Amino acid sequence: MEYVTLRLILGDQLNLQHSWFTQKDPSAVYLMAEMRQETDYVNHHIQKVTGFFLAMRDFAQELQNQGHQVHYIRITDGMATKSLPEILQHCIDTYAIQNFEYQLPDEYRLDVQLKTFCAQLSISHQAVDTEHFYTTREELGQFFAGKKQFLMETFYRMMRKKHQVLMVGNDPLGNQWNFDHDNRLKFKNQVPVPPMAVFPKDVTALLNELAQAEVQTFGDIEPKCFAWPINRKEALIQLNYFCEHLLPHFGDYEDAMHTEQAFLFHSRLSFVMNTKMVSPKEVIDRVVQHFYANQETITLSQVEGFVRQIIGWREYVRGIYWHHMPDYAQRNALDNTYPLPEMYWTGKTKMNCMQQALGLSLQNAYAHHIQRLMVIGNFSLLTQRHPDAVDAWYLGVYMDALEWVELPNTRSMSQYADGGILATKPYVSSRSYIQKMSNYCTGCHYDVKSRTGEQSCPFNSLYWNFLDDKKAYFTKNQRMSMMLNLLGKIQPEELYAIKKRASEIIENPDLF
Ligand code: FAD
Ligand code: SF4
Repeated sequence: MEYVTLRLILGDQLNLQHSWFTQKDPSAVYLMAEMRQETDYVNHHIQKVTGFFLAMRDFAQELQNQGHQVHYIRITDGMATKSLPEILQHCIDTYAIQNFEYQLPDEYRLDVQLKTFCAQLSISHQAVDTEHFYTTREELGQFFAGKKQFLMETFYRMMRKKHQVLMVGNDPLGNQWNFDHDNRLKFKNQVPVPPMAVFPKDVTALLNELAQAEVQTFGDIEPKCFAWPINRKEALIQLNYFCEHLLPHFGDYEDAMHTEQAFLFHSRLSFVMNTKMVSPKEVIDRVVQHFYANQETITLSQVEGFVRQIIGWREYVRGIYWHHMPDYAQRNALDNTYPLPEMYWTGKTKMNCMQQALGLSLQNAYAHHIQRLMVIGNFSLLTQRHPDAVDAWYLGVYMDALEWVELPNTRSMSQYADGGILATKPYVSSRSYIQKMSNYCTGCHYDVKSRTGEQSCPFNSLYWNFLDDKKAYFTKNQRMSMMLNLLGKIQPEELYAIKKRASEIIENPDLF
């Protein structure tokens, strides 16, 4: 077969709507590869590897059905062990390719790898936009250029105005930009939670291939019933399901956690969006249109909460990522050095909140943002784990984890390792936040109120110990002054006991 152009499609570039596919070009071949460099750069959850490969295979099949030519490399092929540049060079040589094209990768390491590869190419080459996000990399660069502060709220309002989402002219619908304060209800079975939408598939054959290729993974999977959507059709069903069944209570219980509800009213759309099966614009348009048609059952605060996550947070963290890479990935402002405890891989701990949040992550390759931020992230920061180790775990465990979105959320927002680019103060809390937003403390092995003694909740001593350990760093931070004042009022004997208890937990977290 003779081809002129080779076009690369990465595993998170499954955008059937891309202009590449509007015309069938018999002189172009699309390359898709299941690569060890992608399975092995961190230890991944088995569901994440399975989900990506299933989705890639489905996408390749769909392209072929539409009449495009695809060169697909499976994980068991010998070529899968080669690096991306080696695979590309092999294809260029095999087909005597004269022109190479790729979509701009969202991860820095792949961006560098492809730029370096292209720099030594003697054939023509070009990079094109993925046509997925609201904002291009250039637009983000212009927005963030020269700014000292990077407030999400400023970015969010600009996006609402620019894209006319929930706007009446220049004013926000309902005359209020942000309903965050309404989105903090504790879940006490006030309303029934609909079952999650599932797309069951038997993945035994793929699991056998992964075993044959000796890909190392962790976490649980049900081989006969893999539930995630893996193509555009299923992604759109998931989106419609969200609008009809979950959106009416999304905002209210956005931050809630409950032992009997893994997903509550969350959309579980991050995987299909991050792999680009659906675009954020499609999601927002559908959600907003559904809201306008159903205002008697859906309040503005539910919809605004959702819109903020997507045109606000999702686009904003991408801007932060590209503005600050590559040194961003090395930051460790608080000099934390401890490795991750074993419980992150086993879920075994007596702390009920950690058991629940880690358990959900290992079981489903999913946890919602508060479990990620205020339980696991909080514990990681309070026990002063190294941000590299925390990042690697978050990058491996969640279905939706890609560095452009994982790193700003984990290293910046959750671990404060960037020294305050994204958050004005660290997201740390004693048991108070967890108790307020969940039922985890009821039935926990530990006594939720006490901060010293063998039965005391670990989060309590850890919180005050963290403030004490890092107080020199935070003395000039106005937003920390109230907590530091409270710290100063703890009697020396009690502080000694608190720090002794915290140090035992930090040194041997798996005993707790
Ligand atoms: P919903 O609660 O239904 O929210 C709707 C959508 O909003 C999500 O699908 C997502 O696309 C977007 N969104 C919500 N919050 C954020 C956010 N903070 N940043 C970017 N987009 C957001 N999200 C990822 O997609 N990949 C990650 O690797 C990732 N790592 C995270 C690590 C930490 C420590 C924290 C605190 C958050 C992380 N998030 C990440 C953000 C958020 O937790 C997930 O997007 C969300 O839980 C996905 O579930 P959902 O689709 O049900 O989300
Ligand atoms: Fe977590 Fe402490 Fe509550 Fe137990 S008591 S669930 S350890 S916050």
